[in-house]
Amino acid sequence: MSNLFSFNARTGEHVGEPLATSSATQIDAAVVATHHAFGDWARSSGTQRATLLRHLADGLEADRESLVALADLETALGPVRLNGELDRTTFQLRRFADIAQRGEPFAVLDDPAVAGAPPAGHPAMQLHRMPLGPVAMFAASNFPFAFSVLGGDTASALAAGCPVVVKAHPGHPALSRQVFAIAERSLQALGLPAGLIGMVQGAGIDVGVQLIRHPLIAAGAFTGSTRGGAALQAEANTRARPIPFYGELGSINPLVALPSALAARGAELASTLAASITLGCGQFCTNPGLLVLLDGRETEAFVPQLADALGTLQPHPMLTAGMRTAFDAGLKALVGAGATPLVQGQGAGLAPGPQLLQVSAQRFIDTHALREEVFGPASLIVRCAHLTQVQDVLTSVGGSLTVTIWGADEDTAEHRALVRAAMQIAGRVLFAGVPTGVAVTAAQHHGGPWPASTAPMTTSVGDAALYRFLRPVCLQDAPAWLLERSGQPC
Ligand code: NAP
Repeated sequence: MSNLFSFNARTGEHVGEPLATSSATQIDAAVVATHHAFGDWARSSGTQRATLLRHLADGLEADRESLVALADLETALGPVRLNGELDRTTFQLRRFADIAQRGEPFAVLDDPAVAGAPPAGHPAMQLHRMPLGPVAMFAASNFPFAFSVLGGDTASALAAGCPVVVKAHPGHPALSRQVFAIAERSLQALGLPAGLIGMVQGAGIDVGVQLIRHPLIAAGAFTGSTRGGAALQAEANTRARPIPFYGELGSINPLVALPSALAARGAELASTLAASITLGCGQFCTNPGLLVLLDGRETEAFVPQLADALGTLQPHPMLTAGMRTAFDAGLKALVGAGATPLVQGQGAGLAPGPQLLQVSAQRFIDTHALREEVFGPASLIVRCAHLTQVQDVLTSVGGSLTVTIWGADEDTAEHRALVRAAMQIAGRVLFAGVPTGVAVTAAQHHGGPWPASTAPMTTSVGDAALYRFLRPVCLQDAPAWLLERSGQPC
C-alpha cells in the first residue's frame, strides 16, 4: 500500500509527514465496534438520534473557519463554495434530525384481520421498518463535506438507526480526520458509544475492499466513479452473504436545448450554460456533459455564443493531479472516437481550460466511448437532424442523474415523446435552469438507471435517502404485548 499524504491541491505538493493508514486489525475493530453499538442505536428514540445529528451540525459550524481553510488547501474549491457546502451539510444533518424526531419513516402500516377465506380474508398484519445494521460509507472527493465523513449518507444512516464506518477519501485526508474528530467529540459529549461512527483511511483500494467484505457490514453507500462503484458493488454481491449496495455514480447529464428556447434567450442561455459547465472546475456529478441540439439557424447562432462564453472562463485547479490526468485522457478518448474540438482552453498546471467538442448524432449513438463521463469542465455537443433523433440520443445514454429540456413549454405530441424519453433514463428531469445544484428536499431524486446509480429505486439526496437503510418486516398475528411496545421486542 502506498503512503497517504495530505497535499496542496493547487500545487500537488505533499503537506507534512505521511498519515497513518488503517491496518486490517483496525478496520476489523472499527466494524466490530459499530456492530456492538448497533443494538442500542436501533432501539434509540427519534429524539436521541436528532440530538446526535444536531450536535454534529453544531460541531461543524463551531469549527467552520479551520475546516474551510483545510478543505480549501486539500481541494482548491475555494472558500465561497466550501462555506456553502458546509451550510448544506449542516442543513442535511438537521433535516434528518427533524425527520427522525417526527418519525414518518418508522410509521407502522396497520392491516387489521379480515374474516373469511383467502384471498380476501387474512390475519392481522403490521408492517414495520427496521434499521439494516452497520453501513460502510464511501466518501467522494468532490464534496469534501456534503458527500464525505458527516455527509448525507452518514446523516441518513444514523437517522435510520444504523451505525456507520466511513471510508475516507484520500483526496482530503487531513480534513476527513478533523471532521471525524468532531464526530468523536460529539459521541463522547452525549455519552454515546464511540463505535457508532467509525472511520478508516488508506491510499489504495484494499481498505475499502476489506471494509465492504466484512461480514458484519450490512449495507454499502458509495458516491464516486462508475468504475469504483462497479468494483465495490461486485465485492458486495460476491460476499458469502450479499448486501445492498447503494452506489451513486458518474453521469453525463444530457441537456436538450430546443430551437424555441434558443431563439428566445440564446445569449442568456449560453452564459448560464458556460457557467454550469465550468462550475467547480466541472467536478460535479450533475455537470452538463452532453448538449443535444437540433440542426438549424438557432443552433448555428447558439454554438458560437456558447464557445465565446466558455472562452472567457478560467476554471480553478482540479481536485487531484490524478483527476487532471484523467481529464486529458477523457478528452483524448472523445477525439479518438470521432468528436471535433470547438473550444480548447489552455489552462495552467492543475487548472484545465474549458473544452467544447461536437459530434453527429449518428456517430454518438453508434459509439459507446462518446458516452463516457469526462469529469471536468467539458461538454460534448451532439447535432441532431430531427426530434426523433434527439430521443434516440437520449435512449442511447441509458442512464443519467439528470436530463434537462429547454423549450418544451407547449403540449405537443413531439414534446410528450421527448419528455417520455427523458424520464425513461433520468432520475430528475429539469425544464428550466441547469442540472448543477441538487436541492436537499422531500421530492428530490438523486439517482437513476445504470450508470447513474447501482440502485435506481433509491436516492442519495433528499428525505427519501433514509429509506435505503430500513428493511420492512411484517408482524403477523403479533401478541398484544408486542403491539403495546409498537412492535419493538426490546
Ligand atoms: P472514486 O475515485 O470512485 O472514489 C470514491 C471512493 O471509492 C474512494 O474512497 C475510493 O478509494 C474508492 N474506490 C475507487 N475505486 C475503487 C475500487 N476499485 N475498489 C475499492 N474502492 C475503490 O470517485 P471520486 O474521484 O471521489 O469522485 C469522482 C466521481 O464521483 C465522478 O465520476 C463523479 O461523477 C462521481 N460523483 C457522483 C455523485 C453522485 O451523487 N452520483 C456525487 C459526486 C461525485 P481510493 O481512492 O482510496 O481507492
